[in-house]
Amino acid sequence: QKEEWKQLKDAKSVSKDGKEVLLGANIGTPKDVVGAVENGAEAVGLFRSEFLYMDASELPSEDEQFEAYKEAVEGMNGKQVVVRTMDIGGDKDLPYLPLPEEENPFLGYRAIRISLDRQDIFRTQLRALLRASHYGRLAIMFPMIATVKEFKDAKAIFEEEKANLIAAGVPVSDDIEVGMMMEIPAAAMIADKLAKYADFFSIGTNDLIQYSMAADRGNERVSYLYQPYNPSILRLIKNIIDASHKEGKWTGMCGEMAGDQVAVPLLLGLGLDEFSMSATSILKTRSLLKKLDANKMKELATKAVEDCETTEEVVALVEEYTK
Ligand code: PEP
Ligand code: MG
Repeated sequence: QKEEWKQLKDAKSVSKDGKEVLLGANIGTPKDVVGAVENGAEAVGLFRSEFLYMDASELPSEDEQFEAYKEAVEGMNGKQVVVRTMDIGGDKDLPYLPLPEEENPFLGYRAIRISLDRQDIFRTQLRALLRASHYGRLAIMFPMIATVKEFKDAKAIFEEEKANLIAAGVPVSDDIEVGMMMEIPAAAMIADKLAKYADFFSIGTNDLIQYSMAADRGNERVSYLYQPYNPSILRLIKNIIDASHKEGKWTGMCGEMAGDQVAVPLLLGLGLDEFSMSATSILKTRSLLKKLDANKMKELATKAVEDCETTEEVVALVEEYTK
């Protein structure tokens, strides 16, 4: 089996009946690009930039960040690297950036909410990203977008920094895709509106599931509610993917669910364009895709979304369709 996987390293990610998708890696530092490439990643679907901040003892400078993003895009050699802007807050804090004590940190001052408030930090990061874009294929996405206004505000700041750099003669790529994480149910419900502004969506199921089910992703007492295959979650995912396609945009997924072997048939059937996961799951997933008929999985997904009432029913249906 491992031998079979190795042979798929440079192969395309394609279903039995010829539907192509992209398999990407999730990374935390530019050094992780090596493992991504070794495991046959066709992209980096999520670079969690907050690790640059967490691994430091003070806010990383523009130059430090620039070097890190440049290393990542150069390491991927022309393949797309989606960098997510700083996602601090929730369960991730910075010792040198004291955040207010909050009753519900996961519902509080977090991610893009901090970036829009602390524009000094945000603009520094955007300038570093813009400068790095010249050295490869870089895309940017904003975490925890809940409203159209947040996306527009973040994008406007990006455009300002881009214009400033260009005016200063700094080389910047002219085709940087700017997208957003889909990890808040409110955003998923207005995906059709957001798709007019965002170049792409990346579904963050780790958070989307916890916010949809109102069940803390780390709390064992309510973990029975943490159900990736629940029809409610599948409906949200379908809404997001369909909305992006209507606008000619693409949707990826960078939550754990993207590399889940039960979820992959469903996601293929729902029309997901890009699956981003830990590098070590890529070859296994490419091998699974080869065995799946995308048209049949479409039928499976439709049934799961329209007919199933429970997670158990969905899992049984996946088994029936993939055996
Ligand atoms: C997610 O929420 O699914 C995600 C990929 O982001 P993180 O796990 O870093 O919150
Ligand atoms: Mg998240």
